[in-house]
Amino acid sequence: MQSWFTFELDGSECRIEKEDTHRSLSSFLCGLDPAFQRFSEHDAWKGGLPVVMGDLEGDRHRFRVIDAGLILLPMLAGRQIWTAEGIRATEPDHPVNLALEGGHFECGDERNTSLTALMFEGYYRPDLRRQGQTSDQFDSIIAHTANIPAIRDAAAQVFASTEQLRHEAAIKAERSGQESTVWTGRQDIFGDRFTKKLFKLKDKSPLSYVDGSKRRFYQPGTIVDLMKLKKQYPDARFVAGATEIGRLSHEVEWPSLISLEGVKELSTSITTEDSWEIGAAIPLTQVAELIGRECLPFTKILRRFASRPVRNRATLGGYLATAWPKGQLSPLLMALNARVLLLSEDGERNAPISQFFEENGGTILSPGEVVRSVIIPRSTESALSARGVTASICDTYTVAPRRSLAEPYATAAFCIELRDRVIAKARLAYSGIGEAPLRAREVEEFLAGKVYQEKTIFEALPMLIETVEVSEAGGDHAEYRKTLIATLLQKFFFQHPTPESIRAKELTASGDFAKLDHPFFDAVAP
Ligand SMILES: Cc1cc2nc3c(=O)[nH]c(=O)nc-3n(C[C@H](O)[C@H](O)[C@H](O)COP(=O)(O)OP(=O)(O)OC[C@H]3O[C@@H](n4cnc5c(N)ncnc54)[C@H](O)[C@@H]3O)c2cc1C
Repeated sequence: MQSWFTFELDGSECRIEKEDTHRSLSSFLCGLDPAFQRFSEHDAWKGGLPVVMGDLEGDRHRFRVIDAGLILLPMLAGRQIWTAEGIRATEPDHPVNLALEGGHFECGDERNTSLTALMFEGYYRPDLRRQGQTSDQFDSIIAHTANIPAIRDAAAQVFASTEQLRHEAAIKAERSGQESTVWTGRQDIFGDRFTKKLFKLKDKSPLSYVDGSKRRFYQPGTIVDLMKLKKQYPDARFVAGATEIGRLSHEVEWPSLISLEGVKELSTSITTEDSWEIGAAIPLTQVAELIGRECLPFTKILRRFASRPVRNRATLGGYLATAWPKGQLSPLLMALNARVLLLSEDGERNAPISQFFEENGGTILSPGEVVRSVIIPRSTESALSARGVTASICDTYTVAPRRSLAEPYATAAFCIELRDRVIAKARLAYSGIGEAPLRAREVEEFLAGKVYQEKTIFEALPMLIETVEVSEAGGDHAEYRKTLIATLLQKFFFQHPTPESIRAKELTASGDFAKLDHPFFDAVAP
């Protein structure tokens, strides 16, 4: 075991020795230098303390904004961290610093600093190409009071410049047949001080670290090593993105932590014609990058999930194991008929997500068992015809007091599979209305075999209200949440095409989404 490790902090090597395994980066920073005093006050639900992490993800070097209060020090071994202070000092003329200099963003000094980290990640994001994406890039700030138009203007300026750069690099790369490396971030098209350092990063190596109080932190590289460690330390706690563990780390002390993020088998995904198998330790942002273009409801619900720094770390396995009754992904996973693969010393088993959660709020996970992956069926033409259906309509809705960083009142997801005009299979799922997410089984059975039309849906509504119970344990506003069970299904029906009418009704007229498809590049190009 080693009692030290290093990571890169604002361009210089930082050696950590005997520091507490539970210590967060924010706590470490505020003890390191009075200039980092702002890191002493952390509230993840108010946007947290964003810093940028440089990492190698498979074969791609990426900058990701993370919350310094929700990452444990040993997780940084071999990685890079840039604080807003470091970004400003290293290259004052960087496009991000220039765009933010003297701006009036009206969000307070703290969140002004956060803006630098969020804008910095956005500048290097190869997939940030549309104006509608600014909202999810900055949601940890704009979920609270801020001058949103000024933030959007600064972002448009910065992201258009990067898009222009990428466009020029793509034209050059086209000649050598390397164009895809430009758009996927596999090639350093920036060549600045930050990316030169980023592209030097190597793969994560396994880590066995012991702190001054003999607490251990393991980061195994394979599932075999993971299982061996769990056998050796049965009380050890798994940790994936640490967005939940990090929150608890002030209150609970674990003698041993086993990190899942270096385990190859848990960080790999497999795409087949019929499904995606997604490793449980893959962060949600990366899941969206993998399936989001095809599985639009996933992209949609993730826009309302926590904030960019949390989504960049939280994993599917951590989400499921946490089993938060108001969790926003479970209804969609249930509606899509996803399955979860569990692994323990005794072997592997799998279950539909709808059977993973127990009624009292727990899960079927037994001690020592790890969520290995989640299998999500696809709706490609061949997958649908193999299921004997001609069309599949799926969507998800969440209702919360704020756009993001708020506890939802309720979340619903619906999937209707059609054989011509007839409903072959209906899956209606909800969370936030009781102690566990649930499916409206009686109504699903009622719908099967009926013609998919307004009359059928309206006939189902009274049964839905009667059979889906809203418990007081789910929180306040029980009456309102009860109403949502039915109104969200109506919304789903009217928003999507039916076999009679391919024209869906526009029910959402949010200005926020109005320019979703406008590219940054066109916005400034003459
Ligand atoms: C500020 C904030 C906002 C949030 N907003 C939302 C929201 O809008 N919607 C929503 O649904 N949720 C929200 N959450 C909750 C969030 O979904 C969870 O914190 C997150 O999914 C946990 O994932 P993780 O990888 O960080 O888990 P970790 O913190 O690493 O682990 C959490 C638990 O899961 C266990 N675990 C982790 N991975 C595995 C595995 N593969 N197998 C077995 N056990 C495992 C750990 O032992 C631990 O007990 C929010 C959380 C925060 C902090």
